[in-house]
Amino acid sequence: MSKLQQPIYNRLALIGAGLIGGSIARAARAQGAARSIVVTARSPATRKRVAELGFADQVVESNAAAIDGADLVIVCVPVGACGDVAREIGPHLMKGATVSDVGSVKGAVLRDMAPHLPPSVHFVPAHPVAGTENSGPDSGFAELFVNRWCILTPPENADKAAIERLAAFWSALGANVETMPADHHDLVLAVTSHLPHLIAYTIVGTADELGEVTRSEVLKFSAGGFRDFTRIAASDPTMWRDVFLANKDAVLEMLGRFSEDLSGLTRAMRSGDGDALFEHFTRTRAIRRGIVEIGQDSPVPDFGRTHGGLPAEPLPRPYAADNE
Ligand code: NAP
Repeated sequence: MSKLQQPIYNRLALIGAGLIGGSIARAARAQGAARSIVVTARSPATRKRVAELGFADQVVESNAAAIDGADLVIVCVPVGACGDVAREIGPHLMKGATVSDVGSVKGAVLRDMAPHLPPSVHFVPAHPVAGTENSGPDSGFAELFVNRWCILTPPENADKAAIERLAAFWSALGANVETMPADHHDLVLAVTSHLPHLIAYTIVGTADELGEVTRSEVLKFSAGGFRDFTRIAASDPTMWRDVFLANKDAVLEMLGRFSEDLSGLTRAMRSGDGDALFEHFTRTRAIRRGIVEIGQDSPVPDFGRTHGGLPAEPLPRPYAADNE
């Protein structure tokens, strides 16, 4: 990525400064995508931390102060809080400003925010499909969006130039941009993100509740697969509570299909149908290869974990081959 000759926006206001807000601020500053960056967050502790970290030009106490004179406002709070923020800022937005968000569900955000925004602003909801299991302002980093997708879900009557300008902003942050209707976004993300999170949350909870296998055994032998689920299941509880409430219909639809497929695999196992299991696992292996091929994950085995060196100590005498 190279720094822009000209900023795309004059004044960027970020409402919410966790993983996503903090990453946008860092990336926008590194790329010169906005002339100035003003940040606010709900709690004094977060605002203080943002000021200490120094990734914004200004840290202000209220949403109203943040949006004053801003030509791009990005709401970076949990999905369930977006409507309240829109109600608060709606009457004070600068004419011609673009208002966006980063919520992981788009239909609910459109429904909750749009009624509070005046016709004099451009509302272009967005979802950067990038993240980690960490939250808060310390967890953000400028490279988070590089080679990740950012999906824009503008309403049908949205201004084309405003959409293109926001797309240019996300491209400057390193993202690939795609546009689609909000309901389609919610269906796609229900399969690729929301259902996997629900499964991870379930498995980790189930393992934790198994009486006959102790918690210490679950942790000790987690490299058998369990630990890869724990990363996802460590994601922010507020964010994910809101995602499942806001995208209930699409997730329930996908959960129905998942349950049918699970029943199919269960039947194959019970009836000893090895061919069915083998065919299924071959198909899923090809999907993993496809993800690596399009650059959405690294080809390094085991997510690039290091395995340490071989034991330095010589084998105990009884197990050593005797050359004498
Ligand atoms: P985060 O690190 O937990 O930060 C959330 C921010 O929102 C904090 O500044 C927090 O303020 C503020 N906030 C929380 N509840 C609020 C409320 N009720 N009213 C006003 N502000 C509130 O979360 P994040 O990961 O950045 O997620 C933010 C948004 O990005 C969510 O909509 C999420 O769906 C979306 N998203 C997340 C990811 C991901 O992987 N994490 C990826 C893509 C999109 P305080 O710190 O002051 O409490």
